[in-house]
Amino acid sequence: MTAHSAIGASSMYRWSVCPGSVRMSAGIPNQSSAYAEEGTAAHEAAAHYLNRGEFPPGVDAETAEAVMVYVNTIFEDERSAYGKSSYERLVEHGFDLAKIYPGAFGTADCVIYYPALKLLRVYDYKHGAGIPVEVAGNSQLKYYGLGALVSLGYLVNTVELIIVQPRCYHADGPVRRWQLSALELLDFAADLVDFAKRTEDPNAPLIPGEHCRFCPAAGVCSAVHEKALTLAKEEFRPEFSYDPIKLGQVLHWLPTLEAWVKSVREFAYQEAMRGHAPQGWKLVKKRATRKWASNVNEDLLAETFKKDSSKFSERKLLSPAQVEKLLEKADLPKLSDLVISESSGATLAPEEDKREAVRLDAKSEFKVIDAEFEALID
Ligand code: SF4
Repeated sequence: MTAHSAIGASSMYRWSVCPGSVRMSAGIPNQSSAYAEEGTAAHEAAAHYLNRGEFPPGVDAETAEAVMVYVNTIFEDERSAYGKSSYERLVEHGFDLAKIYPGAFGTADCVIYYPALKLLRVYDYKHGAGIPVEVAGNSQLKYYGLGALVSLGYLVNTVELIIVQPRCYHADGPVRRWQLSALELLDFAADLVDFAKRTEDPNAPLIPGEHCRFCPAAGVCSAVHEKALTLAKEEFRPEFSYDPIKLGQVLHWLPTLEAWVKSVREFAYQEAMRGHAPQGWKLVKKRATRKWASNVNEDLLAETFKKDSSKFSERKLLSPAQVEKLLEKADLPKLSDLVISESSGATLAPEEDKREAVRLDAKSEFKVIDAEFEALID
């Protein structure tokens, strides 16, 4: 088994929607980001804890706190009513689905089988804090579920797919579950084969969408480039009338286009670092910023400038989240009396977002109408 499948689980949504993306991404290394490295380290810490009951050295407090939500979910499940029956736990369970489709393989974060209940639980830990991931209908989770089901060959009636994502707000909480029957999961095998076959067509279409954000080929893809050019022609200004449907559609595309801009920039930078700077461009040093030499502290500054050392540093209250980490469990209720939650304002979100829509009060609505009326009679 190699480490990464071109038709792997984590990218399945992308290649099932855009079959041409497998051809386009061939040979393009997935640029590792600081976020990806953080995620890998958190997964390693989680596997270590599940196998040995402790973290490996060097795990920071924030990672440990997030990972413990995942680990405790698994421990709690094992202790729960279901867990009273015997079970088998497999951490970082690698599977190969070559019998279903060559090149389809992957690793599920954790799989637990309860023989008496004919129940298979498949866990996926998400360390990301940016995009909340839904569990129901999630093709990546179904892929892991199918992988576990086929590779283990156990008698299973029900498969429970579980996402644990502690660092990202979701109205349903950090642990989200979805059950389906083993038969439904086997139906998914037929979909997997269909989608995988489409990626092999040399003329497989390129279909841009939000999935482009995670595509290694985004920086060089003609389809997403064309989409960007089409949308760039749209102009929305207060003095022009506009189509509100079109405005909504363009808003939906912005994260994809922002990711495309980032990919193009990153790709060009990597090319320049390899000695192939794009025509008309060169690498230069970033502007230098001033910082203290490593031996400097308040006392040295006080001595050098003959001033009170307190003038050279400031005391700052920690944030509620930082204070929370310092407190004993018994002190936590006192914290809630001292903290207020205040939104910094409103932001636009798609209609499917689970947060309640902000109702503009009559006064602010009239302000808008007044402004429009003034503009008309001006
Ligand atoms: S960038 Fe988007 S359209 Fe282009 S290959 Fe990747 S997923 Fe497909």
